[in-house]
Amino acid sequence: MELKNLRLNRHEEKRLQGGHLWIYSNEINTKITPLKQFQPGEQVRVETHSGKFLGTAYVNSHSLICARLFSREPRALDYTLLLHRLEQALRLRSRLFKEPFYRLVYGESDLLPGLVVDRFGPHLSVQMNTAGMEVLKSEIIDALKTLLSPESILLRNDSSMRHLEGMKQEVETAYGESPREVVLLENDVKMLAPLHDGQKTGWFFDQRPNRAMLKPYVQGKRVLDVFSYVGSFAIQAAVFGAKEVMAVDSSRFALEMAEKNAALNGVDNIFNGAEGDAFDVLKALRQEGEQFDVIVVDPPAFIKRKKDHKEGLRAYHRINELAMRLLCDDGLLLSASCSMHLQRDELMDVLRSGGRRLDRHVQVLFEGMQGPDHPVHPAIPETCYLKAFLARISKE
Ligand code: SAH
Repeated sequence: MELKNLRLNRHEEKRLQGGHLWIYSNEINTKITPLKQFQPGEQVRVETHSGKFLGTAYVNSHSLICARLFSREPRALDYTLLLHRLEQALRLRSRLFKEPFYRLVYGESDLLPGLVVDRFGPHLSVQMNTAGMEVLKSEIIDALKTLLSPESILLRNDSSMRHLEGMKQEVETAYGESPREVVLLENDVKMLAPLHDGQKTGWFFDQRPNRAMLKPYVQGKRVLDVFSYVGSFAIQAAVFGAKEVMAVDSSRFALEMAEKNAALNGVDNIFNGAEGDAFDVLKALRQEGEQFDVIVVDPPAFIKRKKDHKEGLRAYHRINELAMRLLCDDGLLLSASCSMHLQRDELMDVLRSGGRRLDRHVQVLFEGMQGPDHPVHPAIPETCYLKAFLARISKE
């Protein structure tokens, strides 16, 4: 195997030796190894300033993260290593879940940087978010076929990350017939996920444990699911015994799916969808004097880039306060954030300050995170992005 070398600048090996997988373009000794010599996705041997071997990586000079390590050994990422990594990923998920509905591959955390594979029984939804993965497209598809004998493989290669890598955004069925909607089982509840037309891969498996967190608290309650997407929290709460559930989302398509999910579970008689901007809908509900016992707030990432931090944080404050105002005394708020640039303590502080401004007593009962099919890579903070607090909000 003949791979070119990628030489780091002095002292830039420390973070990688500490476990990280990403190499930034300003860390490369471009005099010795100019980045332009590499094709997007080309594999390289990474070496320190003094020429000591560190691992193998793939390169993309278009991206600020110009290389990602995939092995500490001097070997290429080929069909054999891909299959090995996929087997490792599958072994973990098989141990975690009885049913084949989960994130099978979570990029860096499964030592397959840039690759996401969600499994919906026999149907797979895949994202290749980097050039390094894109060039391995046929090997990835072959390895998935060998490992799982799936009925279909859909490539949801329309993520915004591909933009940063200089790649085009496209959705393509790579194998078999990928249905537009699939039924999955989560927390013992049947749910429909729109594979082709939904967000990301079609379903947010990361919230599974936080949806389950509601179970003991929703019996006979009125539940509001804000930023509901296809109604995952709302419908599961209904099946767990809520007396009435309402889903709020700006996407009509998402709410239509939520209605289908309600019907699928025989809870359409207690389900309501409200289409609109969540900030406006919550204000309107308040004006109408509506109250809820349990409210879930699971917004899209309000802080997508570091520079959005101030404005995004303000949005978290506003939406959580709006939710708190709609809660009856002794209500429960499940407040989540998937912004990797919002720290856990900042979300806690959103609850604290909301409580003070509205003169409520806030008690955080449980803390959640992304489910274990999205394992955290301890050297890469970005892989630990989902925060969730379940808090009791009461008057003194
Ligand atoms: N809670 C969902 C995931 C939410 S994803 C789950 O567990 O599956 C974020 C959702 O927020 C998307 O469905 C998107 O359509 C919706 N959304 C984005 N901005 C919005 C806004 N301003 N008002 C209401 N919904 C919004």
